[in-house]
Amino acid sequence: MNYQKIINEIYETVLPMQAMGRQATYIPALAEVNPEQTGMCVETLDGRRYAVGDSDVRFSIQSISKVFSLAMALSLEGDKVWKRMGREPSGASFNSLVQLELEFGKPRNPFINAGAIVVADILASRLENPEEDFICFVRSISNDTSIGYNDEVALSEYSCGYLNAAIANVLKFHNNLEGDIDRVLRLYYRICSVEMTCCQLAQAFLPFADHRREFCHSGVRLTTSQVKRMNAVMQTCGFYDEAGDFSFLVGLPGKSGVGGGIAAVCPGNYSVAVWSPRLNAKGNSVVGMKMLELLTTMTEESVF
Ligand code: GLN
Repeated sequence: MNYQKIINEIYETVLPMQAMGRQATYIPALAEVNPEQTGMCVETLDGRRYAVGDSDVRFSIQSISKVFSLAMALSLEGDKVWKRMGREPSGASFNSLVQLELEFGKPRNPFINAGAIVVADILASRLENPEEDFICFVRSISNDTSIGYNDEVALSEYSCGYLNAAIANVLKFHNNLEGDIDRVLRLYYRICSVEMTCCQLAQAFLPFADHRREFCHSGVRLTTSQVKRMNAVMQTCGFYDEAGDFSFLVGLPGKSGVGGGIAAVCPGNYSVAVWSPRLNAKGNSVVGMKMLELLTTMTEESVF
């Protein structure tokens, strides 16, 4: 498969679409990012890397981090995690409060904000230094020690995080948040603020494409079954109320973030990361989704 030729062609095709959509502005620091940037990186299980465009520019991974924090929580608590959240698609926006209230403080899945705040609570209550352990895990899985938090982004979100604070309060009311609300939210925002490039993200997702190999990175251990199930949750819940369309158009397990990034895996084959800041109405990158749709169409490779 000539991935380089394919992704070069995809890049040329989507460039005119960079103007479509709107970048996230509800986190003030994200409004300052130049939206006219697009990158893509594919990493195959046999160790080849193919990149195009702004694939080495760091961006805010935001909700893509929910995959890494879930991996840590599963490694610490195993199936106990599923007592506190479900694994059903929400069909609602990532920061919906209504559903959480109707369902008595049990988030639908770990990839919406409510679920990820419970995951952050698990990390905060189980680990002595969760911030340090989280970044060590991300560095280890990416094989890159230069990756870090962006505290300006984390603080910027903290200062305007009204909905997430409401979500945390509903969780607390229903006894689904053990720790101190402020402490857990600060950890959640720091986790969201991690900055990575497309190439670093593709590398970090490679172990999820390779469930047959032992998953053990900086003390985070997952069984083959846990890795497969994480992919199942990405497939069904990775794109909020656009999970069905993503599955229909792209056909890969993946996870998006409001920074405009998407990481996905073709199990047994490759991992891929794309980035372009302008989002559609569901909060997913317009160009990012198109690039992945073209990738699975042109390669005729997907999970289906
Ligand atoms: N930090 C963002 C928030 O909590 C993450 C949302 C996202 O990327 N979808 O709103």
